Amino acid sequence: MKKGLVFNIQRYSVHDGGGIRTIIFLKGCPLRCPWCSNPESRKSVAPSTWRKHGKKETIGCWRSTGELVDEVMKDEIFFRTSGGGVTLSGGEVLMQADFAADLLKEFHELGVHTAIETTGCFPVEELQKITPFLNQVLFDLKIMDPKSSKQVLGLSVSLVKENFAFLLAQDHLDVIPRVPLIPGYTTSEENLQALIEYLQEKEIKMVHLLPFHQYGSSKYDYLGWEYTMQEAVPLTSLAVEQIRQRFLAQGISANIDGLE
Ligand code: SF4
Repeated sequence: MKKGLVFNIQRYSVHDGGGIRTIIFLKGCPLRCPWCSNPESRKSVAPSTWRKHGKKETIGCWRSTGELVDEVMKDEIFFRTSGGGVTLSGGEVLMQADFAADLLKEFHELGVHTAIETTGCFPVEELQKITPFLNQVLFDLKIMDPKSSKQVLGLSVSLVKENFAFLLAQDHLDVIPRVPLIPGYTTSEENLQALIEYLQEKEIKMVHLLPFHQYGSSKYDYLGWEYTMQEAVPLTSLAVEQIRQRFLAQGISANIDGLE
């Protein structure tokens, strides 16, 4: 029986897709976003440990698709009454693409709305495994300059664009681009303009903006890792609104959404 490595399950979420959702967080991510609020998910698909309040804890638990389906379907009534469903998040879902495909297929066959969050950082073949069982993709767009993206995140912009274009071409999919608003990284004039131009080129009319927050900062202490965003100040609501208006002025409506 195939198992996937899960590091968290969050019920009753109203972010990360429509309606009330259950979010399954899959472990493993090859990127290194300095602002990452789930750093415990990063690196390889293997259980790891941290020390929280002096106590050693294991991060990640191998779960079968059957176990996860049984657990998530306890919330089916909320999905049906709110138009919600299940979202696979991470980490990076595509790092466990085979398992994600098996899991999403089961939910799909049960008639549950399915979504993933991804940065599109793996070859398109990994996405192709799961798109038949998906209704919605929340697709992160971050740093658009290829050199900076590679240097800062370890992410190829051309790969991101290839994956985004592939998803847009799937008629059955609702693709929602999401932009984390990270001071010093994604909110520069140049990056915002590059994002807007790319979205216009793809005829995108709606984007979700995810303002930076510090909610994950203590996790770096638990992991014993350096957190370089300690001094970063979240954008004011006025600054976020100005960015929203900037998208709007270019024909792209922008919702202020969940947490990066
Ligand atoms: S892609 Fe997501 S999980 Fe991976 S490092 Fe960036 S913020 Fe963290």
